[in-house]
Amino acid sequence: MPEPRLLIDQDLHAGAEIALDEAQARHVGTVLRLDVGGILRPFNARDGEWRARITVREKRSMRVVLESLLRQAKPSPDLDLLFAPVKRHATDLIVEKATELGARRIRPVVTQRTIAETVRVDRLESIAREAAEQTERFDTPEIFDAVSLVRALDGWDMARPLIYADESGDEDGKAWGGDSGRARPIGEAISAKSEKLALLIGPEGGFTPEERRMLRAMPYVIPVSLGPRILRAETAVIAALSIIQSVWGDWRGA
Ligand code: SAM
Repeated sequence: MPEPRLLIDQDLHAGAEIALDEAQARHVGTVLRLDVGGILRPFNARDGEWRARITVREKRSMRVVLESLLRQAKPSPDLDLLFAPVKRHATDLIVEKATELGARRIRPVVTQRTIAETVRVDRLESIAREAAEQTERFDTPEIFDAVSLVRALDGWDMARPLIYADESGDEDGKAWGGDSGRARPIGEAISAKSEKLALLIGPEGGFTPEERRMLRAMPYVIPVSLGPRILRAETAVIAALSIIQSVWGDWRGA
């Protein structure tokens, strides 16, 4: 089994002696049962990943000394996830999976049918941190407070196409908006050219026809279909991010 990774928000360099915070020291000593002489892999987005040896273990503290650089840091693709917060468990899952799948920023947006209007950023940050440690990435996604969809779109950076997952057709009275005006399949609609990208996934109740018209009128919005089945919001996030990473992001040539 590879040595455990630990995200450390301090400068990492050869010979540095690092004090783990109390929660990390408890995790390494009690859960992972590592003692003096044990090897860890501290990392961060600036200084990369290091091999470190535990030199001091006390009840509530632990010190490690950095021995050698294992990997230079590499940023995640410049990919934002905008999603409408859903129930707590599903929101947690979205943050964990978006971290595993390499989103660089996570931006909760409140739409007309969103059921949860706030998120606990600190909670989501700790979920993202744990997922980043497990998933061998160097950075953790930046997590923002929830804002309204309109505010999120205000002043949008035109160089960042917004991939909008839209399952509906244009006919408001019909189930799923009928068949006309359906978006193109995601794999055909996105191009590998732009340097940055964002993905927008709606709430369990979907976007209102008004929001859909507003989104489709934006020049930077690319509506996409995720196939003939209606996916739960969390499934849609996972499916769309996977396709984006394989067509546009860092799954190419990986
Ligand atoms: N419109 C639905 C409703 O009224 O219950 C379902 C919304 S779906 C559960 C949640 C979100 O996932 C949608 O807003 C959309 O962004 C995305 N989504 C789910 N299935 C999709 C599909 N087949 N194509 C495109 N987007 C999809």
